[in-house]
Amino acid sequence: MNRIVIIGGGASGLCAALSAGNNGAEVVVLEHNDRLGRKLQATGNGKCNLSNAFLSDACYRGGDHGFVDAVFQNMSPEQVREFFTGNGLMLKEKNGYFYPYSEQAASVVQFFASRLMNDKNVTIRLQAEVTGVTAGAGSDPKDDAGSKERKPGFTVFYNDRATGEKEQIACDRVIVAAGGLAGENLGAGPLGYEIAKSFGHRVTKLFPALVQLECKGAGTKAVSGVRADVRLRLRVQDGNRKQSADGNHKPQSKASGLFTEYIESGEVLFTDYGISGIAVMQVSRFASEALLSGGKAELLLDFMPGLKEQDLFGQMKTLLTAQWKQIPLEDALAGLLPKKLLYKLICEAGLDATKRAGDIRDESIRKLVAMIKEYRLTVTGTKDFPSAQVTAGGIELKEINPVTLESKRIKGLYFTGELLDVDGMCGGYNLQFAFATGLLAGRAAAKQRK
Ligand SMILES: Cc1cc2nc3c(=O)[nH]c(=O)nc-3n(C[C@H](O)[C@H](O)[C@H](O)COP(=O)(O)OP(=O)(O)OC[C@H]3O[C@@H](n4cnc5c(N)ncnc54)[C@H](O)[C@@H]3O)c2cc1C
Repeated sequence: MNRIVIIGGGASGLCAALSAGNNGAEVVVLEHNDRLGRKLQATGNGKCNLSNAFLSDACYRGGDHGFVDAVFQNMSPEQVREFFTGNGLMLKEKNGYFYPYSEQAASVVQFFASRLMNDKNVTIRLQAEVTGVTAGAGSDPKDDAGSKERKPGFTVFYNDRATGEKEQIACDRVIVAAGGLAGENLGAGPLGYEIAKSFGHRVTKLFPALVQLECKGAGTKAVSGVRADVRLRLRVQDGNRKQSADGNHKPQSKASGLFTEYIESGEVLFTDYGISGIAVMQVSRFASEALLSGGKAELLLDFMPGLKEQDLFGQMKTLLTAQWKQIPLEDALAGLLPKKLLYKLICEAGLDATKRAGDIRDESIRKLVAMIKEYRLTVTGTKDFPSAQVTAGGIELKEINPVTLESKRIKGLYFTGELLDVDGMCGGYNLQFAFATGLLAGRAAAKQRK
């Protein structure tokens, strides 16, 4: 027998299944949802941004850049894309971001499901909720998973949700592709980490990343629903007072004193609880990390990044004191920013929005300009895992072989995707990592000799 059980029919598990099946192994995929790739189908706002033409160290955060480099040296983003196109899924690139040609995530799921169902080596069991794995084929669930005196192979235990029966399956190798905690409503859960721990692996602190930020007193409520294009700076102070500008977070970061800054540009959306949008999500894991350590985080928003402060002052002064001095301030500045936002900034600068524009003094114009160029929000927290796109932290990388994804502790046990202590930025990086690790693990597990 060369049977591989893959736990999880998501991004990395589906790649592992195709890869192991193509390499001649008998594969069983256990997925607790009633269909494959539920999360995959929700990615990229339903379009599935599955890869990116640009790749650098800065695109990934987590435990160890050497590990990520080694994965991509053995399964490059180009090879992952060739895997899709070579198996018949056409892709399209838009500004460096790759999608299925249809721009429908559902077609990626359909691609996997159809290829796997036509592979005689692969069996898919849906509604199979895995509860644990023990060492030794045909062993008892109470056996010590990490026991030194191991029998060969593994036993995977699961509940069949359709029948309510407890089931078990013996195999030679196990690929744990059960994903992280992000996106709970799509099937995410802690199982993968529990299996890793039961075999003696260390799991680092888990926290939500690519997630919305909560802000103090939700001062953003008044502008809830407003979108704005900004340049934002997240300033964090680590609670342990350690500098975090260790090269892991470059190039968008710079450190000064006890603070580290992360800079992004793009659209933000104000909400009742705080702030959202891709630019916010990109820096969110650093806020998460700082707040978890007992530190601080604040956002500084520049609402008119294209104009220098002095130039904005000059233009505003001309507008208010020369051209439109007879009309109220908020009317004179109409069109500068979304109406609700402009009104809030005028009020927070201590000005009266209804005052005659020509009566506004230089000092007050300067205050408003400062507010527009550097609006501060204190970050108090992040939304939790159900709202996050990815889990930061995970299975410690030093005990995993980056070329095969096999555990260095337990031969025949593999871990892929988001379970590992690697999290990518928005832009297709998380799927790219999940696919690459799945393909590597599937191939290695199929080729492994007993
Ligand atoms: C809303 C949303 C949008 C996203 N958009 C993008 C994007 O556009 N681009 C990008 O790169 N990344 C995106 N991501 C992140 C990306 O989807 C994940 O990083 C990636 O899917 C991780 O792959 P994985 O195989 O590790 O886990 P998953 O894809 O989560 O697969 C794990 C599978 O294991 C199953 N499972 C869990 N527990 C059990 C159990 N006990 N028994 C049996 N099965 C189990 C789950 O149901 C799931 O099918 C997005 C995430 C979310 C939540």
